[in-house]
This record gives sequence, C-alpha cells and structure tokens, in this order.
Amino acid sequence: MLNMPPFKSHPFDDDKLHEECGIFGIFGHEEASAHTALGLHALQHRGQEAAGVVTVGDGQFHSHKALGHVGDNFNSENVISELSGPNAIGHVRYSTTGGTLLRNVQPIFAEFDFGGLAIGHNGNLTNTQTLRKTLIKRGCIFQSTMDTEIIIHLVAISLYSSVVDRLVDALRQVEGAYSLVALTEDSVIGVRDPHGVRPLVLGKVGDSYILASETCALDIIGADFIRDVEPGEIIVINAEGIHSIKPFAPVTSRFCIFEYIYFARPDSVLENKNVYNVRKAIGEELSRESRIEADMVVPVPDSGVPAAIGYAEASGIPFELGIIRNHYVGRTFIEPGQEIRNFGVKLKHNANKAKIEGKRVILVDDSIVRGTTSMKIADMVRAAGATEVHLCISSPPTAYSCYYGIDTPEREDLMAAQMSIDEMAKQIGVDSLQFISIEGLYRAVGEKTRNEECPQFCDACFTGGYPTVLTDKEGGNNTSQLSLLSERD
Ligand code: AMP
Repeated sequence: MLNMPPFKSHPFDDDKLHEECGIFGIFGHEEASAHTALGLHALQHRGQEAAGVVTVGDGQFHSHKALGHVGDNFNSENVISELSGPNAIGHVRYSTTGGTLLRNVQPIFAEFDFGGLAIGHNGNLTNTQTLRKTLIKRGCIFQSTMDTEIIIHLVAISLYSSVVDRLVDALRQVEGAYSLVALTEDSVIGVRDPHGVRPLVLGKVGDSYILASETCALDIIGADFIRDVEPGEIIVINAEGIHSIKPFAPVTSRFCIFEYIYFARPDSVLENKNVYNVRKAIGEELSRESRIEADMVVPVPDSGVPAAIGYAEASGIPFELGIIRNHYVGRTFIEPGQEIRNFGVKLKHNANKAKIEGKRVILVDDSIVRGTTSMKIADMVRAAGATEVHLCISSPPTAYSCYYGIDTPEREDLMAAQMSIDEMAKQIGVDSLQFISIEGLYRAVGEKTRNEECPQFCDACFTGGYPTVLTDKEGGNNTSQLSLLSERD
C-alpha cells in the first residue's frame, strides 16, 4: 500500500475546491426550469456534490441551489414552479478537497448596474490567486472560494457598458479553462475559452436554444444537436435569435483528451466524435500495443467497459464481466480522504469468481491516479483464483496534475509521477502493466500522429505540456493582469 500524503491546500485559500462540473442553459422555453433540471440530471456524472438552477422571467431572478444530486433536490413541483421564467441556466459540481459549502454552489449570481447576472462555470482558472489578491486589495469582497467569482468581480469593475463587452473584458484577464453559461434579464450566453479545453454544445428544442456541456443533456429533453460552441466563441441567445462573436486572439484548439478517456458520458458526441467509439478505438490500439496471451478480457466497470470491448474485439480474446459493480455507490474519487476512498473501492466492486477462477485475466481500466483502485482490483481478482493478472490502461500514465477542471491530486500523489511502470506493476501486484502510448491514443481519437510542436489536444496530465500559463502555480509572477487592472484605477 502506498503511503500517500494528504491533499495539499493552497495557503491562500484553504477550503479551495477542485471543480469538475457540468453546465446547462436554455432560452425561451415555458418549462425552462424543468428542462434545466433534466439536462443537469443527464450531466450528473460531471458533478455529484451539488446542483443549482437560476431562472429569469419578467426581470425577476429565481434560484435554487442544494448539496446533493439533481434528482434529490429538483424533484418537486414546488421547486420547479418557483423557478419560473422562460430562461434558465444550471450547474452540477463535484469537489474532492475542502468542505463542500453551499456558498460555493453555482450558478453564482450578482446584481450589477445593468441588472442581474448569473454564471455557471466548468473548468478551472489558473491565475485565480493573483487576480483575487489584487481585487481584494482594491476593495472587492468575496462571498465564496470559487474561481468563478473572479469573473463576477471583473465584470463589475469593467468600464465597458454592455454585458457582453464587460464579460469579454473580464475573460481577457483570466487564464485557464472555462466553458461558461451566463444568464441576464434578456439573454443566455455561452462561452468557451480560446483553447476550448472543456466542452460546450449548442442545441435546439422547438424554438428554444440550449447550451450544454455534453450532447447527452440534449438527448434527454429531445433537443437536436446543432454544433459545438467553438473555442474562443461567445454565443449570445436573446429574443432576436442567436449571435456569435469571437473576441479573443485565436490560438490552437486544445480540447481535453481526458474527456474522451474517462470524463464525458459514452453516449455523448463531442467535437464530432462519439465518446464510446473513441474509447473502443483506444481499446483496439491498446490490444495491438500489448499483445498479451490470456483467457479473457475483463473491464473494471464502468469506466473500463468500452475500451475492454475494443480490446476484446481486436484481440479475439473473449470479453467477460469478471468484476461486478454495485451501482449504489458513487465514484471512488468523491469521498474526500484516503481512508474512505480505500473503503469505497471494496464497496464498489466484487470479483465474479465463477468466471475468473483458474483463468489468465486481462483487466482493462481507463486510468491510474493514486493506484488505489488498481491495487484493490488486482488483489480481488487474484483472491478469486485468477492464475495471471495483466492490467491494461486506456490512457498513458497520469504523471502531471490537471489545472483545468479535472480533479487530479498534486504530482506527489500521482503513482505514475513517483514510479516507473515496472515499479507500479510490482506495487499494484500484477503480472504485467501496459498503458496505451500517447501516439496510440492520438490514433484512437482520429489523428495520424501527435503534433509535437503544437498538440491537437490538451494532454498535459500525461505530458506536462500545459496549453496556458499557470500563474498561480508559478507563484503569481505573471503581472500582466495586475497592470491591466491598475490601468483602470
Ligand atoms: P486511483 O484509484 O486513484 O488510481 O483512481 C483511478 C480510478 O479513478 C480510475 O479507475 C478512474 O476510473 C477514476 N478516475 C480517474 N480520474 C478521475 C477523476 N478525475 N475523477 C474521478 N475519478 C477518476
């Protein structure tokens, strides 16, 4: 068992939350709040700790936020009918460090000189601490520990007059990853950061436009997919229709490749690719790269299933459900604290002994982060009588932290940052351990090869090549934001 140190929190902000989120917005629908609740339900895998909906109608904003699942909090006629108005945005969030506080539940709302503005954010900003210190010095009072609140304050102090101009002004000062939905008295706005790290799609149901993190949130309400919001694009939906602007300097698109590997729902189509098909293709590549002789391919459910199907199909080795998952337990990662996380793995999976006993097993999972899941699963499969246990992972080794909204621990807690692959195999207790190569991964997502100069995706968790500056991490030495702010003083 690895002796992992506890999570580190930032000294400036010790109840800092790492966010993984889903967002939804709808304009001009008589059942806007009910549709938003349904959309968020479809996006529940992106965030299970809290949910919130803000609606607006006749100049009145209404909001309901709660800790817990969408289905537990947006299930009554009362809640839905109090969220009146034809325009709405919603948010699901998931945090793994610090306390989960109601004041950190989104969408975040504030009153401005131009009226109310609510924002829901998926992603993480990387110059939050720097901007926050500056804003606090100039008198801004923060109500939460969310990076998203920075955007609210930057909008408040912007000297531009229209909401969209003020939002653009604010976003030009932030770094990192953001897909946003925003709600004003008369519009719903969608934004994707210039690299398009996190997803955001546009759809339509009847005459109403929808914005959502993933297409599965369109499917649930019978909406048609129109297109992805483009990296660096702002879409403004109001009574006049839909208006698109691209106010940021163009940069190469760097969609998060981990969305395909693990995070997004397999039935979603993101950046023109069905997530399930990509996962299967990764499994096929993995089987070609590993060439292991075995009796069966067993997925670690549920995240390993599509890659294991691809692996089995390409290798001709039978696919078997050698591990059964208890669906009434949340994702292992949710539990804050290593102790509970360890226990969580036992609660979640059980070996299907009758299938595994006396067999050479290839286990397929999507990723190894701390190694907790793999160690438990390997033990469990051996205890059930497998004669050989090989572990194949449908991502390259996760050796770097993500600062863009996928919660990964600090580098020292990442197994692959601390050990060689052989050492990992030994620690996990498997006969062999194989990760897909970065080139194999790029092939599986439809690229001939990875462009080394300027990769087509954000793959920083595997390569350390971060597409944006990491001002907070680098000690807040990037002062460009400070000068921008003081120019307005
Ligand atoms: P670990 O047990 O720490 O090695 O975590 C690996 C498992 O967690 C894998 O089986 C993944 O399915 C899952 N996983 C990987 N990354 C994340 C994430 N950012 N959030 C939640 N679960 C994750």
